[in-house]
Amino acid sequence: MSLSQNPISIQGVSLESVANEFGTPVYVYDEEKITSQIKTLQAAFSKVPLKIKYATKALTNINILKLVKKAGGEVDAVSVEEVRICLEAGYEGKDVMYTPNGVSMDEIKQVVALGAMINLDNIPVLEQFGQEYGNSVPVCIRINPHIMAGGNAKISVGHIASKFGISIHQLDEILEVVNKYDLQIAGLHLHTGSDILDAEVFLKGANVLFEAAMQFKDLKFLDFGGGFKVGYKEGDVVTDIMNVGDKVSDAFLEFCKKYGRDLELWLEPGKFVVSESGYLIVQANVVKKTPQITFIGVNSGLNHLIRPMMYDAYHSIYNLSNPEGELKKYNVVGYICETDTIASDREIAEVKMGDFLVIKNAGAYGISMASNYNSRLRPAEVLVWEGKAKLIRKREEFQDLLHNQVILDI
Ligand SMILES: *Cc1c(COP(=O)(O)O)cnc(C)c1O
Repeated sequence: MSLSQNPISIQGVSLESVANEFGTPVYVYDEEKITSQIKTLQAAFSKVPLKIKYATKALTNINILKLVKKAGGEVDAVSVEEVRICLEAGYEGKDVMYTPNGVSMDEIKQVVALGAMINLDNIPVLEQFGQEYGNSVPVCIRINPHIMAGGNAKISVGHIASKFGISIHQLDEILEVVNKYDLQIAGLHLHTGSDILDAEVFLKGANVLFEAAMQFKDLKFLDFGGGFKVGYKEGDVVTDIMNVGDKVSDAFLEFCKKYGRDLELWLEPGKFVVSESGYLIVQANVVKKTPQITFIGVNSGLNHLIRPMMYDAYHSIYNLSNPEGELKKYNVVGYICETDTIASDREIAEVKMGDFLVIKNAGAYGISMASNYNSRLRPAEVLVWEGKAKLIRKREEFQDLLHNQVILDI
């Protein structure tokens, strides 16, 4: 489906029928798109022993995790809870890469017991890990290569002031701890941020890892993280994944020769796998004309999709109910009592109150970042799978808001 097309249907299932059947707001995912994105990555990196560790924080619904597994993927988790959801989805501990930031040794011990690969990103905890396990549990080290990447300061995590990873400038300190405890370093990792566009940025990071890797004797893999950029609107430049795959694979094979052993290449795509598969369908509650702007107030907002407010993210929006209507300019806003703009100055086919609108690229960091702010309920999730729309998460109900509140006799 090209970006300019109004996404009226997925696998022959009309989005309007999904809205009618399941109500709005509702997140809808296209199984075929998720599977094809994974196949594309597998094809792009076909020259090397590849493991795709889907970054589950992008979209954690257990059915999505099962689809990734079916397509030959594995998973990256950032919390013990995500690790446990992966196990519920049928992954084995060894399929899970655990890449936390700022967690306690206590949580790390729980994840060791679950069998996941631990990826550590600070020296004090590496030291604690050494004291606890010595060389009995393999471990990976997250390196911060200090490469600038990513389209937005909030998603670029490789810069010098970033909290992520152990600075490449502290390699000597890492080696000291590794030698002191005879640590079994199974892999080196980097994840420099989202919206990486080209092979050059990837290669810059890769070269830092290649150089560092020569200091470690027992590596099994190098993990280059996620961050491939996907298209949000017509004309967007997206990562040329075939080109990145080709160049990074060649450099990797060259490195393996030098290293003297064949290693695995791991990737951790989140957005690339699920962003384009997802649609958030909302309903226009009000169309409000002011002297300057016509606002469309919808039955959703930053409580369901925070990306526009948090990252200035652009999401295409179409009118499902009046697709051929005359194009008019609108500001699409949420119903949250907070500045809650989903889109500004946007051309959309004429909207009447009650129309269904669809917000695209809602698969990644949509429901997984949703909240109950303003005591609003979180939406249902629907998966279009084998040509049918299936409910994969119930819409929340009022009682869910009170569920954990302990009511005192006041
Ligand atoms: C968030 C994250 C990813 C995925 O990033 P995308 O931009 O969604 O591809 C990969 N690895 C780690 C460690 C992450 O924290």
